[in-house]
Amino acid sequence: MFALARRAISARAFSNSAVVDGFTGAVGNTPLIYLKGLSDRTGVHIYGKAEFQNPGGSVKDRAALGIVRDAEERGLLKAGGTVVEGTAGNTGIGLAHSQEKIDLLRMLGADVRPVPAVAYENPANYNHQARNFAQDLPNAVWTDQFDNTANARAHYLSTGPEIWAQTNGELDGFVCATGTGGTLAGVGKYLKEKSGGKTQVWLADPPGSVLTSYVASGGKLVERAGSSITEGIGQGRITSNLATFVNELSGAFTVPDEASIKTVYELLDSEGLYMGASSALNVAAAVELGLKLGRGSRVATILCDGAYRYQSRLFSRQWLKSKGLLEAIPEHLSKYAVL
Ligand code: PMP
Repeated sequence: MFALARRAISARAFSNSAVVDGFTGAVGNTPLIYLKGLSDRTGVHIYGKAEFQNPGGSVKDRAALGIVRDAEERGLLKAGGTVVEGTAGNTGIGLAHSQEKIDLLRMLGADVRPVPAVAYENPANYNHQARNFAQDLPNAVWTDQFDNTANARAHYLSTGPEIWAQTNGELDGFVCATGTGGTLAGVGKYLKEKSGGKTQVWLADPPGSVLTSYVASGGKLVERAGSSITEGIGQGRITSNLATFVNELSGAFTVPDEASIKTVYELLDSEGLYMGASSALNVAAAVELGLKLGRGSRVATILCDGAYRYQSRLFSRQWLKSKGLLEAIPEHLSKYAVL
């Protein structure tokens, strides 16, 4: 029987810069992966920022950490307080989040309250509901990921500088899809500033999102019919985060779901990377941008999260068939659709 008195130990028993402090210490500093198979096949150099390696499993760790720190610094969020956030399928897309995501949030202790997907203009939209809910709850803060620019700032201060350093400042292009717009605006602004405009920054959009036509028309918001299997991306309005950069974009284009789902399977087959549909859309967009910029060009994008959160859909033949996407998967890759 041991009866030793318990003493507090110092925070770190030894000092080694390869050891980080806790969850927050593990956010960021992700590798940049050269996608060799795809690059060899397409003749453009494609790099994917491995955001799925963040401790929460996605690019959103950076925004969450930046927003929460900012709320703490401004005295809005205090110890023991509650964070309220709204997230959903977007206007015109109307996709519910996959069940895996909802289950995971609940396992992590979140109180998830599903609400109907309605347009931003409707007071019942999840953004407004989240704000009202936080107002009524004691010691709660609405972190407002879409319009709180601490989100884009987090990417300007971390993701952007990391990509710049990892590519020796020699990138020809950067492209990614947007949900809140935080990643694209923050990374885009940093890369454009540092390169003096040499690095082109493009937006990639899923079907049903209004951003491609907004950029192409020089700023008109037109309702778009259509939907997409990609989760977390696409938008029906210009969020405050996106507004900080939208006028500096080199261009925008839409990536059809057929190309995104095909790329999910290609990443698995030729790179050994098990990526969700938004990452796959980004990679398909990086190839498209690289081909626009010319053979041998160097383009980076974001590998947002893994396929684990979506696998019951993305690898189910029945689900793919119901979306009319089974034919989009080439014969030699169909062996991966095992569900
Ligand atoms: N991919 C996934 C899976 C996401 O959840 C999100 C964020 N909603 C994005 C991409 C887009 O990132 P951002 O919000 O920074 O535009």
